Amino acid sequence: MTCTFDLGHYAEILEAAKTGGYRFARFEKSPERGDLFLRHDVDLSLDAALTMAELEAEHDARATYLLMTESVFYNLASSEGVEAIARLRELGHWVGLHAVYPNAALDDRFDPVVAWHNPSAEYMSEAIPAAVNVYAEPWFSQATYRSDSNQHWRAGCPHEELRAGGFPFLQMLVHPEIWVYPGATMGSTMRAMLAAERERRLVQLADDGIDLA
Ligand SMILES: [Zn+2]
Ligand SMILES: [Zn+2]
Repeated sequence: MTCTFDLGHYAEILEAAKTGGYRFARFEKSPERGDLFLRHDVDLSLDAALTMAELEAEHDARATYLLMTESVFYNLASSEGVEAIARLRELGHWVGLHAVYPNAALDDRFDPVVAWHNPSAEYMSEAIPAAVNVYAEPWFSQATYRSDSNQHWRAGCPHEELRAGGFPFLQMLVHPEIWVYPGATMGSTMRAMLAAERERRLVQLADDGIDLA
């Protein structure tokens, strides 16, 4: 098994977790042995989130998708955004807020769970009124946390430890964009995402009656 950042290996990680006896848990009660909190901060692409969500559903996996209301890359209030939330819920996933500090205002689109975008240490783990802060105890500790930020697992890809049942519980942060789009480096993956985005925008322009001749 090679730990590449693609959907093939992502599916292997999901299966490894099932083999290790983990169950997909939501951020609503304290972690118990065997809980896997699969978390997706959606920074860049709703399309990537939906692709990952479909794959997870095929593998009977449930995740928490944290979506931004203040993204410069996508508009959650657009028809696309509304449809994305509906599809995520239809597939059985949970939807929380990927918030830009200090705005953690939740509305009825969201389950009461918040992850700060690019948090700094001073406020990262502070309690948030009426919501779970995924970076606060009891959900968060270094030993029970793995993140794929910038295509780099700081403590290694978790698939082996998951398969062996090595974590008492785990919060795993996976950014859909870096698995869905091809590329051996973060730079090439981002360029692949932008190429797909360009095609998507051209279709949108045509749909909007823009003459592209
Ligand atoms: Zn791996
Ligand atoms: Zn983020």
